[in-house]
Amino acid sequence: MIRTTCPYCGVGCGVQVQAQTDGWAVQGDAAHPANLGRLCVKGAALGETLSDHGRLTQPMRRARGAAPQAVSWDAALDEVAAGFARIIDTHGPEAVAFYVSGQLLTEDYYVANKLMKGFIGSANIDTNSRLCMSSAVAGHTRAFGEDWVPVSYTDVEQADLVILSGSNLAWCHPVLYQRLAAAKAARPQMRVVVIDPRRTATCDLADLHLPIRPDSDVRLWNRLLVHLAKVGAGSGDFLAGTSGADAAVQAARAEADDPAQVAADCGVQAEALARFEDWFATTEKVVTLFSQGVNQSASGSDKVNAIINAHLYTGRIGRPGMGPLSITGQPNAMGGREVGGLANQLAAHLKLESPRHRALVQQHWQAPRIADTPGLKAVDLFEALHEGRVKAVWIMATNPVVSLPDADRVRAALARAELVVVSDAMAHTDTTALADVLLPATTWGERDGTVTNSERCISRQRPFRTAPGEARPDWWILSRFAAKMGWGAHFDYTHAAGIFDEYTRLTAAGNQPDDSPRLLHLGGLSGMTAAQYDALQPVRWPVPAADTPAATAPAHYRLIATPSRSYPHAVDADWPLVLNTGRVRDQWHTMSRTGMAPTLAGHRAEPVVDLHPEDALLSGVRIGELARVQTRWGALVARTTSSGDMRRGEAFVPIHWNDRTASDARVGALVAPVVDPVSGEPAFKHTPARVVPFPVNWQGFVMSRLPVDLAHTDWWVRVQGAGHVRFEMAGRQIPDDWSAALRRWLGVPDDADWIEAADPEAGIHRAAWLVNDRLQACVFISPRADLPHREWLSGRFGERALSVPERAALLAGAPLKGGDAGPTVCACFSVGRNTLLKAIRGGCLTPQAVTAKLRAGGNCGSCLPEIRTLIADLQPVEAA
Ligand code: SF4
Repeated sequence: MIRTTCPYCGVGCGVQVQAQTDGWAVQGDAAHPANLGRLCVKGAALGETLSDHGRLTQPMRRARGAAPQAVSWDAALDEVAAGFARIIDTHGPEAVAFYVSGQLLTEDYYVANKLMKGFIGSANIDTNSRLCMSSAVAGHTRAFGEDWVPVSYTDVEQADLVILSGSNLAWCHPVLYQRLAAAKAARPQMRVVVIDPRRTATCDLADLHLPIRPDSDVRLWNRLLVHLAKVGAGSGDFLAGTSGADAAVQAARAEADDPAQVAADCGVQAEALARFEDWFATTEKVVTLFSQGVNQSASGSDKVNAIINAHLYTGRIGRPGMGPLSITGQPNAMGGREVGGLANQLAAHLKLESPRHRALVQQHWQAPRIADTPGLKAVDLFEALHEGRVKAVWIMATNPVVSLPDADRVRAALARAELVVVSDAMAHTDTTALADVLLPATTWGERDGTVTNSERCISRQRPFRTAPGEARPDWWILSRFAAKMGWGAHFDYTHAAGIFDEYTRLTAAGNQPDDSPRLLHLGGLSGMTAAQYDALQPVRWPVPAADTPAATAPAHYRLIATPSRSYPHAVDADWPLVLNTGRVRDQWHTMSRTGMAPTLAGHRAEPVVDLHPEDALLSGVRIGELARVQTRWGALVARTTSSGDMRRGEAFVPIHWNDRTASDARVGALVAPVVDPVSGEPAFKHTPARVVPFPVNWQGFVMSRLPVDLAHTDWWVRVQGAGHVRFEMAGRQIPDDWSAALRRWLGVPDDADWIEAADPEAGIHRAAWLVNDRLQACVFISPRADLPHREWLSGRFGERALSVPERAALLAGAPLKGGDAGPTVCACFSVGRNTLLKAIRGGCLTPQAVTAKLRAGGNCGSCLPEIRTLIADLQPVEAA
């Protein structure tokens, strides 16, 4: 059994992995402080993603327009080194860049940063964490002088008031949500406030939901600060050790003195706003937990500081059960920050703008040079690539063609670049398709190193399976590249332990109370042997050496004046909706891992655009049908839905789908390249948009064990099933002969066991192909979206041979005697909606009763809000 760390979100749960005859069993690590044994469904399904299918297993080079050719590591790195050297010699070090990822381990990040800033001599290394939490970094640095997170998960449990601002914790960080839910159940006096334009699943726990207008957060928090000043909630003793309080209050008063006006501007009820103000003012133990809804904004840094201001003003920080907590989206966003993975940082929280700090880092690395000006942040980096100012980019473990704003321009930028190097575990992503050189990297289960989660806890990721082919760790690839560039003596690492040791010594270098004090101090972890490193237990920093005095709180706190900024692109008659983007419960990022797990495909199988019913009506689209979502920057196609979560004037689209999983669903292509002026983080949650019908003449789905011809569709989505792949699809062209067309699309031979049924007048066609009574493929076509549930059919692919009743039921798409479970609600135990409704009708009128009967909701609990909604929806109907 191997103890390691989940590779998904910033909660950073510990997992235990056990080899089995048919794969790997994954369960939560009860000894890990982040999760105490819990896992969400994504973590629990990790075993399903441990496949070599689709992996990049050899270095490849590709002449433009030609198919990639396998080459040796030596040849590939020779080509990369020659390309970088040529461009640096001709155009200088600012003409090259690294774009890295919160998926990298701290050791990988450290080596990449050292190589770029100390040896190439540019700070052009930025990370996809820029897209996720750089506003939090900017806010922390402005308020604390350092990127310090002052709160642990235990503080969240101990608080009496927990404010969730711009965070759908229930779906995006489920294990922390479950810890919060359990704490609230144990102490019902704990209050939870959710600040979010959408009524998300997280509101299930809320005593108060403030559905604010997009990007009105700063005004709301400024209003709170005005109220705190007015009622005398300021902490005199604490404020004496801070600066900026008067200016912050003055700036807040200038725009938020009138509570009724603020409530109207934020779109919330005045009474609800007053209650929020009162609860904050009168509760000592307050934790404000914030995430991408705060960070991903043109005013993200100010939102963060407005939140921190309220905590500093009341002194509610640095003690148990209180403080602001930034929850990161990625497993190692924090570790990347620690080793300088952002273009405006040095490693170990040393400052790029400080000559003393630069000298410290250069000395530690024995580097020939050190970058002395900030590099290009993510959005600017790809714009510079488009303009030709940057000519070579090396992308590591990320997929910017899907995830960056204005993603079509990013694609064009890569097509124009002189040299594109991509190191990735997967062979086929939207970004690897544009690489000149592809380098196979290891991934979760093969990697060896450390990650830091959102509460500053450093954990080991340990390998437990052999990497396929010639895949190598990112630090190994970078070190071999450095050797080709002539810097081998400085990158002669043989194990991740040596890199970690070098990093910990840098955190201690010059870190004295009277020299260059930093809270990030890992001197107590220096000098570990490889065996000690391998056995390292989860530990929260700082970890100073025993004889070293280390700071545990910032020397000085600053309140920052945060006048509201306006978003540069307003909605208008042409673009009447605000497009918001975010995650769904069971997928993660661009689906390159979660998209492989059939368990995770059941909950949300296709991209949707969630609309208020009146906006759907005004847009001329019907709920349940396909629609085109458009902005000035791009467009996609998604199925309309109306969850009841949306305010008027807003639309929500998930971020996960890409050109590998859908014909037309990259939401990044729609997002404006607008960034926060302080942090450079893009405003992913605020782009003017419109929704128009996407007319089709037929819709359907196909499930098949074999490849399917999709050339005759106008829209499709790929859904991974167990033993088969499903394609949801739609089209305009109606074949003259549906039967022949379906056989052609599926590749059905003439003599196949092919059963079909059709009502040509109604446009309905259904067919199935069996091989020795085993289901090979099935297809369902209709003019409308009124198709059978997919779950029962999907389960038939797990059988060696269908029974006679099952064969008879195939074209109905459901068992003849009933028993179709319906769409998946609980992915952990595969419990469908119909099963839940039956149990509720049978008397299970609480989530606990449902769990006791069906187990649904009894593992990660992410589906409990939906179960509670089903119970609530059914009860009035039954009573009527
Ligand atoms: Fe992984 Fe889920 Fe834990 Fe996040 S909450 S680290 S996705 S198990």
